[in-house]
Amino acid sequence: MVVRSWRHIKERYNLIGVRCKNCGTVYFPSREICPKCRRKTDFEDIKLSGRGKVYTYSVVHVAPKDFEKQAPYVIAIIELEEGVKITGQVVDCKPDEVYIGMPVEVVFRRIKEDGDDGVITYGYKFRPVEN
Ligand SMILES: [Zn+2]
Repeated sequence: MVVRSWRHIKERYNLIGVRCKNCGTVYFPSREICPKCRRKTDFEDIKLSGRGKVYTYSVVHVAPKDFEKQAPYVIAIIELEEGVKITGQVVDCKPDEVYIGMPVEVVFRRIKEDGDDGVITYGYKFRPVEN
C-alpha cells in the first residue's frame, strides 16, 4: 500500500484489515467475499497490531527504478499475530540478519519523493523487534 500525501496519513497510519463476521478470519487488504465461507458475508474493520514474524523472504539485489540506492534489500511475507500475511520490505537490519520466524513490527516510512510536485510517498515496512 502506498500513501500519496500527508492528508491521508492519519487514516492510513494504521493497518486496517477486515474480519469476517461469520467465521472470524482476518484479511488484509480488505475483500468482499470470504474464501473460507465461500459466499458474500459481512465484514467488520479491524485494526491490525502490525506485529508478526517473517514467514518467508527473499533478498532483492537488482532493484527497480527509484529504488536502486536501497539494494540489496529484503522483501518478506510477514505473518501477523492476527494470522493474516502481508508482503513488505524489512528495514533497519542487514539482509543476512533476516531469518524465518524473526519477530517484526510495522513502521511507516517515506518511500520516495517525486521530483516535480514534491509529493512524498509513504508506505508501510517492517523492522525487527528488539528482544
Ligand atoms: Zn468467513
